[in-house]
Amino acid sequence: MIDRTQERFGIWPHRLVADAAYGSAANLAWLVEEKGIEPHIPVFEKSGRNDSSFERVDFIYDYDDDSYICPGGNHLRRSNRNFSTPRTGIDKDGSIRYRARQHDCEGCALKPQCTPNAPARKITRSIHEGARDMARDIATTDAYLVSSRERKKVEMLFAHLKRILKLDRLRLRGPNGARDEFHLAAAAQNLRKMAKIFPIQHLATA
Ligand code: SF4
Repeated sequence: MIDRTQERFGIWPHRLVADAAYGSAANLAWLVEEKGIEPHIPVFEKSGRNDSSFERVDFIYDYDDDSYICPGGNHLRRSNRNFSTPRTGIDKDGSIRYRARQHDCEGCALKPQCTPNAPARKITRSIHEGARDMARDIATTDAYLVSSRERKKVEMLFAHLKRILKLDRLRLRGPNGARDEFHLAAAAQNLRKMAKIFPIQHLATA
């Protein structure tokens, strides 16, 4: 859709607004790194813990050192050993594991709140965490609030299409049929809007 919009109308968006279904790490990275578009999208988070122990947000990422600093002040690193052949530490799903040293966790007073059932704490970080951080930062801005309001307006129109104009099922077949039905439905929505605006103006000028 982004490419088609550019080809047809010469429009290149500087921001894209969407719901959390579009907030996967890979999607955010594609928008930020390949397309240069600001993601006004909630980040898809899977790092929450259900045992009330420290979450990843409690660990601070040190960009210069490429390590996490835990609430106890120790570093979690990709590797705590020197391998003769350096390892990337990147899993198949595109995450990198950062591990605390067992020695640090064993003597730590915060261990029951941090890693009660494992000898040392691990944190995963997506290879696309930079794009995720950018989306998180944007989510704290006034511009994001404006985007959210605009998204809800669009969602209301889609809800109207489905529930009132009954477009949850299409009657015409194939992509051309779908296009025709949506064009007609969009025209109906625009006429409905115009009907709300114009009678008032007409009365005012009468
Ligand atoms: S248990 Fe380990 S990772 Fe957790 S706060 Fe203590 S030293 Fe840091």
